[in-house]
Amino acid sequence: SAADTVKGNFTKNIAVYDDSLHDREMLEQQLIEDFPAALREKQFDVYFQPKFDVRPEKPVMCSAEALVRWKHPKLGMISPGIFIPLFENNGLIFQLDCYVWTEAAGRIRDWKERLGITLPVSVNVSRVDMYEPGLVDLLRELCEQNGLHDGELLLEVTESAYTGNSEQIVEKVRQLREIGFRIEMDDFGSGYSSLNMLSTLPIDALKLDMQFIRNAFKEKKDTRLLEMMIRLAETFRVPVIAEGVETAEQVAALKEMGCDIIQGYYFSRPLPGADFETFMLENRPAGGDCFRPKEG
Ligand code: C2E
Ligand code: MG
Ligand code: MG
Ligand code: MG
Repeated sequence: SAADTVKGNFTKNIAVYDDSLHDREMLEQQLIEDFPAALREKQFDVYFQPKFDVRPEKPVMCSAEALVRWKHPKLGMISPGIFIPLFENNGLIFQLDCYVWTEAAGRIRDWKERLGITLPVSVNVSRVDMYEPGLVDLLRELCEQNGLHDGELLLEVTESAYTGNSEQIVEKVRQLREIGFRIEMDDFGSGYSSLNMLSTLPIDALKLDMQFIRNAFKEKKDTRLLEMMIRLAETFRVPVIAEGVETAEQVAALKEMGCDIIQGYYFSRPLPGADFETFMLENRPAGGDCFRPKEG
């Protein structure tokens, strides 16, 4: 059954689709049907994963990414790798993302008020959300309602969003930046944008696709490719973020190559709000602006 297929497969979610097409369709149908109740009953939870600025001698926590989790009452933990693409294709993603953004904004405010810690948090904005007419107003209001200043809520827009009607997307990104949002280009290098586009693109940080880091530690030519990506970010004077970093060796090598910010299991897995709070108290965030444009 769909339930058996999902159980225990949270970390190796690809395996979920190993079964028949029929099972997969059944599962997807069930998840779509379950969505409204899941939202109402708060089955979605927002986890946080820290980002560390590795430019100082000792790395300092400078930000975090909000990542959604679904605690399904029958199916257990379901990976966003499964339900995000599904919701994107079925008109549900904007509703879910609004929920995640609201939760994240509320946390930023709460941490400031209760803990005296100001930590910029990035949220994921789906390619599909970028076509919502109400997007800019909604995000502006969210910041106003929570008293957030510019740069406290960051937006991660995947590179793939810039394809398709890229003219419209670039304009939307421009509007968001105009009202004070910083934009990180997520999964950069995963295969869609042209280098040509980069020079005109309004962005504040490049977040390298995890695969580059993975490969760079296996093959010499991939090491050089990673180096080149970091040089590329330097050319555009934006900080470069590496994600999926798991080992001390990777941290040292990335630092050596000039990578600015690192996110990955090496520092911490994504944590539920309460655990993340403890992590923050133990790893006092820098309080500075790690996304400031580079000099030169
Ligand atoms: P992403 O935005 O590129 O997020 C990074 C993913 O890498 C996360 O997977 C994170 O848990 C994982 N990760 C971080 N460090 C490591 C590491 O050291 N090793 C490994 N193996 N993995 C690491 P997650 O949370 O499963 O999310 C997958 C994707 O789902 C995200 O990729 C993002 O595209 C999407 N997503 C997650 N939450 C949201 C959301 O609230 N809204 C939208 N629209 N998309 C979301
Ligand atoms: Mg992201
Ligand atoms: Mg990414
Ligand atoms: Mg990704």
